[in-house]
Amino acid sequence: MNNNNIEPEIKLEIKEEKPVLSIIAPVHNEEAGLAQLYQRVKQVLDGIGEPWELVLVNDGSRDRSEEVIAKLHRQDPRVKGLSLSRNFGFQVAVTAGLNHVLGQAVILIDADLQDPPEVIVQMVEKWREGYDVVYGVRASREGETWFKKATASLFYRLIRQITSVNIPVDTGDFRLMDRRVVDAIRQMPERHRFLRGMVSWVGFKQVGVTYSRQPRFAGQSKFTLAKMVRFAMDAVTGFSYFPLQLASWLGFGIAALSGLSIIGVVFLRLFGKTRPLLGQATTLVSVLFLGGIQLICLGIVGEYLGRIYDEVKGRPLYLVKQAWGYEKVDNATANSTSGKE
Ligand code: UDP
Ligand code: MG
Repeated sequence: MNNNNIEPEIKLEIKEEKPVLSIIAPVHNEEAGLAQLYQRVKQVLDGIGEPWELVLVNDGSRDRSEEVIAKLHRQDPRVKGLSLSRNFGFQVAVTAGLNHVLGQAVILIDADLQDPPEVIVQMVEKWREGYDVVYGVRASREGETWFKKATASLFYRLIRQITSVNIPVDTGDFRLMDRRVVDAIRQMPERHRFLRGMVSWVGFKQVGVTYSRQPRFAGQSKFTLAKMVRFAMDAVTGFSYFPLQLASWLGFGIAALSGLSIIGVVFLRLFGKTRPLLGQATTLVSVLFLGGIQLICLGIVGEYLGRIYDEVKGRPLYLVKQAWGYEKVDNATANSTSGKE
């Protein structure tokens, strides 16, 4: 079957086997690329020769992605589908996949074919050598704007500076994880998820393979600037107290400065020839300056507080509306360890 057209009448005869390799692809309005994704994944994984499954998680698509997933499942039962009740975002969609896969090694891949499935062969080789996490390092990014590349590069470096976990630079979510890493991630019920950080936090033996990131096969990027800013905030707040400590450092700094100024002012008042300049403007500027700093610090505390509130509410992380290839679905809640026995 090397043609790229999907014929709904053809149903492949696949013998039922427990998959060793599981591929998870989150799908948000990707109808145009899914058939191609299936073909490429199938070709690569049939080449590897282990039983596999491809789990497509529909993250509230408004196009016909759901129909395409259903059709692919009817045609090849190794394709499984989960449809979330609305758009929950990339990180949560992947989590839904992680909670359902059966394989011994799990590979996350974008549905838009920006991460070439052919790299999976190298990842599996490394896994067989004994690595628990094999992440894809982007040697180059094709077909992306300079703005995206610049902000991405800045983001990776900033995160590295201020977080306590060692997150490799220029890696996305394209990666292979061993079953024990997946089980560890499933015990981390946090709401505002930053999977790359979580995977680094888990530890075990990790290694990178380089690849060149391709242009999108079809459609366009779903990540707006606002979404990227949210994502960066989740990454920072999830893995660092640095912004909270910033308030103390600023406080110490400003207190020290004003201490020195007081001494200076008193000195000038007593011994200076001219009187210290203390007009209205000086007072106004310093009051506004301090007010600004206080509001920023309050905002930072608010960011953490809001996230704590979300955790405390303990709502399900996502809701599954429909599933293909599953009899039972798992709507992960904060205080269950995601369906683990
Ligand atoms: N995606 C998703 N939910 C979203 C946004 C994106 O599941 O809310 C999926 C999307 O379908 C794709 C992957 O996440 O498979 C990466 O998204 P995209 O290509 O838009 O991101 P980029 O490659 O530009 O970082
Ligand atoms: Mg993409």
